[in-house]
Amino acid sequence: MTTTSAKQLLNYIGGQWESVSSDHLDVRNPATAEVIAEVPLSPKDEIAEAVTKAKEAFKDWRMTPVGDRIQPLFKFKMLLEERLDELAKTITNECGKTYKESIGEMRRGIENVEVACGTPILMQGQNNEDIARGIDEHMIRQPLGVVAAITPFNFPGMIPLWFLPYAVATGNCFILKPSEKVPMTTQKIFELLELSGFPPGVVQLVNGGKDTVDALLDHPDVRAISFVGSTPVAKYIYSRATANGKRAQCQGGAKNPAVVLPDADMEMATRILADSAFGCAGQRCLATSVAITVGKAKEEFTARIIEDATSRRVGYGLDEDVVMGPVINDASKTRIEGLVEKGVAEGANLLVDGRGKEVDGFRNGYFVHPTVLGDVNPQGEIARTEIFGPVLSMMHTATVEEAIALVNNRNYGNQACLFTSSGYAARQFRYAVDAGNIGINLGVAAPMAFFPFSGWNDSFFGDLHAQARHGVEFYTQTKVVVERWPQEWSRQF
Ligand code: NAD
Repeated sequence: MTTTSAKQLLNYIGGQWESVSSDHLDVRNPATAEVIAEVPLSPKDEIAEAVTKAKEAFKDWRMTPVGDRIQPLFKFKMLLEERLDELAKTITNECGKTYKESIGEMRRGIENVEVACGTPILMQGQNNEDIARGIDEHMIRQPLGVVAAITPFNFPGMIPLWFLPYAVATGNCFILKPSEKVPMTTQKIFELLELSGFPPGVVQLVNGGKDTVDALLDHPDVRAISFVGSTPVAKYIYSRATANGKRAQCQGGAKNPAVVLPDADMEMATRILADSAFGCAGQRCLATSVAITVGKAKEEFTARIIEDATSRRVGYGLDEDVVMGPVINDASKTRIEGLVEKGVAEGANLLVDGRGKEVDGFRNGYFVHPTVLGDVNPQGEIARTEIFGPVLSMMHTATVEEAIALVNNRNYGNQACLFTSSGYAARQFRYAVDAGNIGINLGVAAPMAFFPFSGWNDSFFGDLHAQARHGVEFYTQTKVVVERWPQEWSRQF
């Protein structure tokens, strides 16, 4: 059963809900395969209209005092709280994760709205008096103008909020292009933005796929692009946006390892790592997809993770006792299952096979149950490919140093975790590991909104990350003023 009915979705441009497109894609509930909405594929002209509206709105928005610019964000935060249940159900119905996971996602999004309400302090400049006698120097931050974000399917509520609140609070006009696989949550978020009191053109929503993205990347008046999604698309967007003279921050895919030392609390390590690997059906960019056991940790951890993987209740995310939902679509299910087969062909032991299992009452859903591959070849393709499904690959080393070398032997750098009771090992790991987000006795080291979301290597292209100060710096340009006011020019009063 779904809580929404299939309807054609709209864009939000210049304060109006509209769509000129005759091309639409079906949006399906991944638990049932039922069509729940149709999303428009917006053409270039409609994107140009949105940019024009944003440019017009910018003239006044940038002069609006920052204390006034954050007022709609306070209202937006209250509306998000009031409509939390409805938003979470929409996320579950279009994205598949459980209701509890959807609530958790929205909480992390709301946290960014709260932090952006501190923009009066976050965007303050710097100054020095008397850099030479009688000469002062100031650095001020000014907004860029029209900025845009392109977001992925796996966090339809949270990821747009990594960008939107900071962009508008710093005085920019913001255009969002959400994932065409999950456009319904953003429709609801924009209904709340409309009620929050932003002037027309300050926040806009355009739906679509590659052509819509290209129109944003090529439009000369879009000054900055924020992107979150897979690495090949992140690379493409970073190159095309920067070649067109725009700022770009592009977060890509991941293949996150976690190292389990023999001195770890095994019950805790397994519980946390199972949630990291199988939570959100493994479709988190911070999901652990490789567990590396060191020395004696192998035996106990393997036995425990098999038990957890086989006992996890999989099903429709709005059913109360379900802890893991489906993957996003049929293509994704087929790809994941194919990669499991590839792992086996490369010599891995299929310790838990989550393929080919039905869920009662949801026979058409895109379900892959938790899967565990043992003794995965570190040089094999499966060890390096992002699976983005509920599949945990296991590897083993004799020492911490070898485990760190394995962790660093990959292209991605979104997250690495360590489970241990040794402070020394934790320091060694934190110091040497080549990743931007580190978890010690944690499985999803998602930075709070007041820290940057620090992917490295092929998990990030750019220099300033999403959230907080990085977001404020990304959406502002610095202007330095050096000034001299000789006394002899002053009138005597
Ligand atoms: P995706 O790259 O397929 O799509 C992301 C966005 O890019 C969508 O809005 C889509 O419409 C657009 N897009 C897709 N192909 C395009 C193309 N050829 N040209 C222009 N635009 C295009 O990603 P997805 O499947 O929606 O999301 C899953 C991916 O996102 C995973 O790789 C995951 O690791 C990654 N992700 C990363 C982070 C992070 O913080 N690093 C966070 C969440 C998700």
